[in-house]
Amino acid sequence: MNNILDLVYDYSKNFRILDLFAIDKIMSILLQENELDTISCELISDNNLFLSHKELGYFVNNTICLYINNLRKKVLKDKHILFKKEKNLPLFQYILRQNLEILHTLFHEVEHAIQDKILSENNDKDLERKLLRIEKHFIDNALNQITFYDTIETIERYIPGLIEYHRDMKIYKTNYDISIMERLADANSLTKIKNMLEQIKKEIPELYELEDDIKLQYLMKSYKILNKKHKNKEIIISPTEEFIKNLGYINSLNKLNIGNLTYDDRFKYGLQITKEEYENNTTRLKKLMK
Ligand SMILES: [Zn+2]
Repeated sequence: MNNILDLVYDYSKNFRILDLFAIDKIMSILLQENELDTISCELISDNNLFLSHKELGYFVNNTICLYINNLRKKVLKDKHILFKKEKNLPLFQYILRQNLEILHTLFHEVEHAIQDKILSENNDKDLERKLLRIEKHFIDNALNQITFYDTIETIERYIPGLIEYHRDMKIYKTNYDISIMERLADANSLTKIKNMLEQIKKEIPELYELEDDIKLQYLMKSYKILNKKHKNKEIIISPTEEFIKNLGYINSLNKLNIGNLTYDDRFKYGLQITKEEYENNTTRLKKLMK
């Protein structure tokens, strides 16, 4: 991790945004540190004007793919700026903040590769794995519907399978914003970035604190409050419980045994928080946002 911090620090001191060379270096360090030797990384620096998608990166089939120009463009246009603190940063910290935003995407995609590794291990006591397994089960199940059949008898099963696959994928896409895998990739990557900054926190106090605010914003955005007018009662809808219910796995949710979790764990995993906890977070965020 020190190597990554050194590199990002040097770039920022020289007022430079991470480029292809730096991103390539960081990715190889990250893959090595996390013992992800089966994962490859593709860096696409596409200047094609006709290609106007805004995707930053993705992880699929053991490959992390990153769109270098999109990553750089996003921070150069300040599209990430949400907080008051971000506007008044000294120049070095401001550039560092831009580079950390790029780093967040790199760490996020690596988290997806780590999730794959966690899913292949045998540790059923771990709550993180249990939650990831629910989502993985749904995706695998959808993909299984489109197994290619090669005989006349089984080809009749292909069309119903295709219809089911599209139905499942539609459900998945609709609920993507509250996906467990996405939430945990954000939570874990932001925690790792903050831990990395620990070594230089005296030099960058505002930025170090900002990491907590960014994480709060990411993790809060999928909680909702619902007014039940007839009962005069407000209910907090937690993203992970909503996600599991919408995928049709309510029984798995009941088996999770989440009654004794601390607030930190409930919040990280997107499980039920109290109305008071919800309101404390919302008030804190309102004060922080620009
Ligand atoms: Zn993701």
